Amino acid sequence: MEHCPVDPRKYGVNIVREPQQTFEGDRNAIEAGQPTLPTNSRTPFSVLQTSPPSQHQCEVEGSAHESNENILIELPSTRQLSQSSPADVPVASPVLMANDPQVNTTNISEREAQKKIQKDKRAELQRKKRQQRWREHIARELRCDVTSIDSDEERKYMRRRLERVTTEENAERERRQGLSLEEKRQEDIQASAQHLKRDMETYLGQYARLPYPAFLLQETPQSRNGAKCQLHLCEKRIMPDDYRIAVDPGDRQELLPSCFPESLRVSGH
Ligand SMILES: [Zn+2]
Repeated sequence: MEHCPVDPRKYGVNIVREPQQTFEGDRNAIEAGQPTLPTNSRTPFSVLQTSPPSQHQCEVEGSAHESNENILIELPSTRQLSQSSPADVPVASPVLMANDPQVNTTNISEREAQKKIQKDKRAELQRKKRQQRWREHIARELRCDVTSIDSDEERKYMRRRLERVTTEENAERERRQGLSLEEKRQEDIQASAQHLKRDMETYLGQYARLPYPAFLLQETPQSRNGAKCQLHLCEKRIMPDDYRIAVDPGDRQELLPSCFPESLRVSGH
């Protein structure tokens, strides 16, 4: 037989015991004048058990005695419990006081569930807004009314867009295949330099730390594997104990010194 001592103030439950008529021992106990509690008693109970009736051991106000009575728990809510079998005694779900400093797991899980519902609602609203914006975009592209865009139209639009991109990529690949190695290299240098120039212009705006770009020749710091040269389209790595050129401002791009002159060879500069 196990005891589960519970501080009644902690749970705010009142236990009311009623004599169980089916057990001879109960009647004997009542007739013998053993202390019983009235059904509307507010006397807190300190032990909750779900063992068979014949084995109930109850502790009232610190005193223990054997009893064959059913335990009724009177919750401080509107819920009314009828006489229940020991298995129905809601030991696991006592109603807790709102101002109880103890963590109330039931209320917390309810709050969590509420939060989740709210979160799902917000996510659904966001999804609808995104869909609306997307459909407006499609309608503008197709020069038609937004109400005519349904999910079928969305799919058709995406398919056409994908086809267009694939066609463009194929055409570009074919064009590149027609170039010599040197022509390809020159093209890559131009593209990388344009990229770097765009980056620098972005960072040389109103909030730049310097009013001009700085190119700093530095020793590359120690690292296990070096770092990728950040010139667009360059795949080489800058290894430790070598030199690098840091471009500042900008997002502090670090380039191989050999890539630096190439990065400046932008058309018309
Ligand atoms: Zn490079």
